[in-house]
Amino acid sequence: MTRPYTIALAGNPNAGKTSVFNALTGARQHVGNYPGVTVEYKEGSALHEGKKVAVVDLPGTYSLTAYSPEELVSRNYLIGQRPDVVVDVVDASNLERNLYLAVQLMELGVPLVICLNMMDVAKTRGLRIDAAKLSQLLGVPVVPTVARQNQGMDDLLAAAVQVAQSAPEWRPLNISYGSDVDQGVAELADILQGAQERRGLLSARWLAVKCLEGDQEVMDRVRETPELADKLLPVCRRVAAHIKSTMDDDPDSIVADYRYGYITGITRQVVSSEREVRMDLSDKLDQVLTHRLMGPLFLFLVLYGIYNFVFWASEVPVVWFEHFFAWLGGVVESALPPGVLSSLIVSGVIGGVGGVLGFTPLIAFMFFAIAVMEDSGYMARVAYIMDRVLRIFGLHGNSVMALMVAGGISGGCAVPGVMATRTLKDPKARLATILTVPFMNCGAKLPVYSLLIAAFFAHFQAEMLFLLTLISWGLGLGAAKLLRVTVLKGEQTPFVMELPPYRAPTIKGLVIHTWERTWQYAKKAGTMILGVSVLMWAAMSFPGLGPEQDAAWQKRLAAAPGQTAGLELKAERARQELAGTLAGQAGQALTAVTAPLGFDWRANVALVGGFAAKEIIVSTLGVAYSLGEVDPEHSQSLSKRLAAEPGWNPLKAFALILFVMVYAPCLATVVMIRRETGTWRWAMFSVAYNTLIAYLLALVVYQGGKALGLG
Ligand code: GDP
Ligand code: MG
Repeated sequence: MTRPYTIALAGNPNAGKTSVFNALTGARQHVGNYPGVTVEYKEGSALHEGKKVAVVDLPGTYSLTAYSPEELVSRNYLIGQRPDVVVDVVDASNLERNLYLAVQLMELGVPLVICLNMMDVAKTRGLRIDAAKLSQLLGVPVVPTVARQNQGMDDLLAAAVQVAQSAPEWRPLNISYGSDVDQGVAELADILQGAQERRGLLSARWLAVKCLEGDQEVMDRVRETPELADKLLPVCRRVAAHIKSTMDDDPDSIVADYRYGYITGITRQVVSSEREVRMDLSDKLDQVLTHRLMGPLFLFLVLYGIYNFVFWASEVPVVWFEHFFAWLGGVVESALPPGVLSSLIVSGVIGGVGGVLGFTPLIAFMFFAIAVMEDSGYMARVAYIMDRVLRIFGLHGNSVMALMVAGGISGGCAVPGVMATRTLKDPKARLATILTVPFMNCGAKLPVYSLLIAAFFAHFQAEMLFLLTLISWGLGLGAAKLLRVTVLKGEQTPFVMELPPYRAPTIKGLVIHTWERTWQYAKKAGTMILGVSVLMWAAMSFPGLGPEQDAAWQKRLAAAPGQTAGLELKAERARQELAGTLAGQAGQALTAVTAPLGFDWRANVALVGGFAAKEIIVSTLGVAYSLGEVDPEHSQSLSKRLAAEPGWNPLKAFALILFVMVYAPCLATVVMIRRETGTWRWAMFSVAYNTLIAYLLALVVYQGGKALGLG
C-alpha cells in the first residue's frame, strides 16, 4: 500500500483552522505535543474517495519568521516533513492581512491550496471576493468555504488531494523587494548557491532573504559552516547597512512593505466593497496616480518634466566640464613636443575619456530623477500603469521593471536590466523581455544622443530626448511582439503588480543612489573606456604616413603660398594620414555596407568600438575628430566640430542616433544574456536581431529623408 498523502493546515489564529480540521477529520483525530516545545500538535485523517488522507493542524501564525515558537514549529515542520500539500486557511473578511502568510508560504515554495474561509462574514460586511481571479493571480487553487457550517469542505479536500497527486516540485515565488534589496539578495544568493546541497531543497534566494531579514534560525545554521559564514556574513552586514542608509529602515521592514505591496496588487483586483472603505494616504494617491486615464497622463508629464529638468540643470556644468577638458588638452599640447606621446595623451586619453566624462553632470541628474521615482514608490506605479500596455505586446508586468532598469526613462543599464528579468516566471515572456532590454536608452547611449542633439538639434534638447524615449519603447515593444508571434509564441500567464506604500525619499538615500550610479559611470570611463579609447587611438594613428610621403608633404607645405592655403593643405594631410591607418582602412572597408545609411568611415570605426561599450562611440569620434583637428589653437568641443563638418547634417545624425539606439548590445550585455539564458545562441541572436533592425531602420530613415529632400 502506498503512503497516504499528508495535508498540513496553516493559517492565522482564528481564521478557522481548527474548524476546518474538525470538519475534515471528524472524530478521527488525536492531540500531541511537538517535541521540546509546549506547542500543541493535532493530527487526524480524512477520507477522500475511500482513501485515507493524513491531516496535520499546524499552530496558528501570522508569519513564517523565527520570532515565536509557533512560527518556528510551523516552518520547521514544512521544511523538515515536506507535507504533500499545504492548505492555508484564510479569513476572507480580512483578506489583506491573512494573505501575508500565504505570500510567505508561496515564497517558501510549498504546494499550496487556499481555503477562503469565513465567506459568510465577508458577505455580511459587504465584501465581494472574486475567488477565481484570486486563484488565477496567485497561481494556486482557491476554495471558498464556511467551515463552521461545513460548506465547501468536499471541494477543499478534492482540491488538496489533486495538488498532492500531481506531486509538484517546490516552486518558490520571487517577488521584487525594490532594487536595493533585490541586488543584495542576488549577491547573497550567489554565495549560497554553492552551499546549496547541504541546505536541503530550500532555494538560495529564500535563504538569502532570510539572512537579510536577520532570521536567527537561518543565521545559526549558516554559522555551522564556517567557510560559508566567513563569506556570507560580511556581505550580509554590508548590504543591510547600505539598505539602512539609503532607505532609512531595516531590511526586514522593507521586505514586509514589498510583500504587502504584492498583496495590495492582488486585492485591488480581487476585492470589491459595497460600502465605503477607509483609505490611507497611499490609497488616495493611487486613486489618481494609477487611474486609467489620469495615471498615464501624469506619467507623461513626469517624464517630460524630468527631461526638461535634467537638461536645464546640467547645461552649465556640462559646459564647465567641456571647457575643462579642452583647456587640459591645450595645456598638455603646449607642454609636450609634438609627436606620438603628445598625440596619445591629448587625443587618446583626454579626447576619449574627457568626451565621456564630460557628460557626467547630465548622467548624474538623470540618476537623481530616477532615484526620486524609485525611492518614493512611484516607479512601482509606473510599472502598474505600463502593465496594461505591455500585455498587448506579449510582455509581462515585471518586464516593466527590467525595461526601466535598462533605461526605460533614459540612463539605466542593460546588464542589471537583463538580471531583473529573474522575477518573471514564464520562460518565454522572460526571454522576450531579455531580448527587448537592449532597445532601451541606457546611460551609455545618452552621451551619443547628447552629442548629436547638441550639434544638430540644439533648440530641442529635451523634446528630442523625449522623442527618443518614445521611439525606443515603440521599437522595443514592436520587436517583442514580433518575437512573441514567431520564435517565442506562447500563452500568457496572469501576473501580480506590486504596489508598496509610498515613502518620502530621504535626502541621504537620494544622494547615495545618485552617487553610486554616477560613480559607476565615471569608473567605467576611467578604466575600460580609457583602455579601448587608447586602442582606438592607436588604430587611428598607425601605421601613418611613410617617410617618403611625409617628406613630400613637408615640401608641399613649405611651398604653400599663404596662411589659408597652408591650413587647407594641413587638413588634407591629416585626412590622408587617418585614412591610411588600420582603423581608417577598416572603416573604409565597411563603407560599402554603411554608405546607404550615410555613415562615413569615422562613424563606422566608432560603431565598431561601440560594441565594447556604447560610450566608446563618443570617445572614438572625439579621437577621430581631434586627430583631424587642423588648428589646435582653436580647439572646439566635439559637438561644434561635428556641426561644422561638411559631411554631417541633421538627417545623418538622426539616422546615426537610431542606429546607435538599436544595434548590437554592448559586450557586457551579451555576456549577461549568455549567463541568464544559459546559451550563446540567444546572445548571438540578440546581436544579429538588433543589428538587422538597426540597419533597416537607419536605411529607411536616411533614404526616406533624402527622398523627401531633408538631407
Ligand atoms: P483557528 O484559531 O484558526 O483554529 O480558528 P477556529 O477554528 O478555532 O475558529 C475561530 C472562530 O471562528 C470559532 O468561533 C469558529 O466557530 C469560527 N468560525 C470558523 N469558521 C467560520 C466560518 O466560516 N464562518 C464563521 N462565521 N465563523 C467561523
Ligand atoms: Mg485552532
